[in-house]
Amino acid sequence: MIVTDEALRPVELDQTAVGRLSRIDSLQNQGLTKNLREREQVKLALLGDAIRKMENGDYGTCDGCGGQIPFERLFVFPEAPVCAACS
Ligand SMILES: [Zn+2]
Repeated sequence: MIVTDEALRPVELDQTAVGRLSRIDSLQNQGLTKNLREREQVKLALLGDAIRKMENGDYGTCDGCGGQIPFERLFVFPEAPVCAACS
């Protein structure tokens, strides 16, 4: 899911059409959108690290214990820097 800039704009209040509850709703939706974007940025950073590890030839190696991250885990979370036990 892509988070657009549109969704992150300040919440505008249309006094004629938007009631108090709608405004709270809008603010809550914006909070969710911000959380999504933060999660995307974390994932993007982890993917960058994963690409560097591929270039170094140690992709799939756990940053925590140095063991091999199971293929099944990498298949679901290609950006995972650690194995399930170390996460
Ligand atoms: Zn580990």
